Amino acid sequence: MGIMYKSTRSDSAQVTASQAILKGLADDGGLYVPSSFPKLPVGIEELAGLGYKEIAYIIMKEFLSDFTEDELKKCIDSAYDDKFDTKEIAPLRKADGAYFLELFHGATIAFKDMALSILPHLLTTAARKNHVDKKIIILTATSGDTGKAALAGFADVEGTGIIVFYPKHGVSLIQERQMVTQKGGNTYVVGIEGNFDDAQTGVKNMFNDKELAALMNANGYQFSSANSINIGRLVPQIVYYVYSYAKLIHDGAIKAGEPVNFVVPTGNFGNILAAYYAKNMGLPVGKLICASNENKVLFDFFKSGTYDRNREFILTSSPSMDILISSNLERLIYHIAGNDCEKTAELMEKLISEGSYRITDDMRKNLAIFEGGYATEDETAETIRRIYEQDGYVIDTHTAVAADVYNKYRESGDKTMAVIASTASPYKFTRSVMMAIDKSCGSPDDFELIDRLSGISKVKIPQAIEDIRSAKILHDRVCGKSEMKSVVMDILGIQI
Ligand SMILES: *Cc1c(COP(=O)(O)O)cnc(C)c1O
Repeated sequence: MGIMYKSTRSDSAQVTASQAILKGLADDGGLYVPSSFPKLPVGIEELAGLGYKEIAYIIMKEFLSDFTEDELKKCIDSAYDDKFDTKEIAPLRKADGAYFLELFHGATIAFKDMALSILPHLLTTAARKNHVDKKIIILTATSGDTGKAALAGFADVEGTGIIVFYPKHGVSLIQERQMVTQKGGNTYVVGIEGNFDDAQTGVKNMFNDKELAALMNANGYQFSSANSINIGRLVPQIVYYVYSYAKLIHDGAIKAGEPVNFVVPTGNFGNILAAYYAKNMGLPVGKLICASNENKVLFDFFKSGTYDRNREFILTSSPSMDILISSNLERLIYHIAGNDCEKTAELMEKLISEGSYRITDDMRKNLAIFEGGYATEDETAETIRRIYEQDGYVIDTHTAVAADVYNKYRESGDKTMAVIASTASPYKFTRSVMMAIDKSCGSPDDFELIDRLSGISKVKIPQAIEDIRSAKILHDRVCGKSEMKSVVMDILGIQI
């Protein structure tokens, strides 16, 4: 039998992959995890010549075990097509003594497209397989990039609606503009007077609200999630780690079997968790280097074994990582506890009641492949400038956090080949990027800065940016963080 899924918080019944994708979050508030880790079904050297879609199929069929070959191949073909501006889908670029894995060539120019261009197909296929007759409402909290990628993926997808909550004062101008200009009769975008953690907590509370679930059901709706708590987000993210490894062999940069370090700019811990899953499948990984911005709750966790969110929330130039409650860490906690759901539930309760928890020494031993680091705002800007001046390569603020952390890490003497996950196009954070390169370029107009960035980077302005220059604003709803539930009911026309 193939892989099944269970909750991180209890040993209740296992569900199939398609059921886990449909539900998003388990009934007990836990996250779905695979019952075991499948091993790479082909030899490492055989991967070398394969394209993105071929590797996507090889990896995803192991995890999505109740999807037929035909179903999965259709999902993959519909996702990784010319919505991406390069056939490679995720090209590698050598700079600063490492490889940058560019994950931003999709429709909304951030790495969220890697998974969110396929999630709507996985979800509608899952709905068909499970004979779902309700309209699926995708409820999403975003720190800026998931929102647009999910909106683009689900816009006008039959049988679905999507509601996105974003921190009204916590995203870049381009990020906000991308979301509020979203077309589609089934799309809703709401700014909240709060930060990303407030948005994510509000969404999770709605998922766990039994009364709301009953009302939804009575009105012909059910919720699902486009956040990385959904296993349908996580699994497609494993693919590009394997793909980048295959490319490195193919290009002669490494020999098959040689370890590679992955450096990942981290917020909600979804991207780096996918790398950990790749490692557990047998991909030769040396270190997983977790890079944080000044919200360095994960750096402190890896250093001390204590996770403590009781601290000031800092707005940085890498807003998609401005997060103090990294949801996907729950999956790692479960695995390093030896798949112990009781221990995980106990720690997650502590996180809610006290805002902190401490893991055991045995659990810490299982964290040895992780390395934590962080970059200050000055270091981030300096790294953008340094790599531009040295290599003529312009990176975004999130990628720069990772590049700075890696630069500091390699002083330890580790010569292992490193791949840095490049999570957004610099165009998405033009103002911060241009200010890093030239402090005097204080133009008030972001679109003028975009033209200047194009001049210095020699990279064509992405279609995603051209699209919003003159697009009409279609969403202007704003609410308090305690009003999220009533906004959802209002949007769906649910009355009590
Ligand atoms: C979402 C995001 C991240 C953080 O990824 P997680 O999976 O939440 O850790 C980093 N960079 C960018 C540009 C993002 O959009």
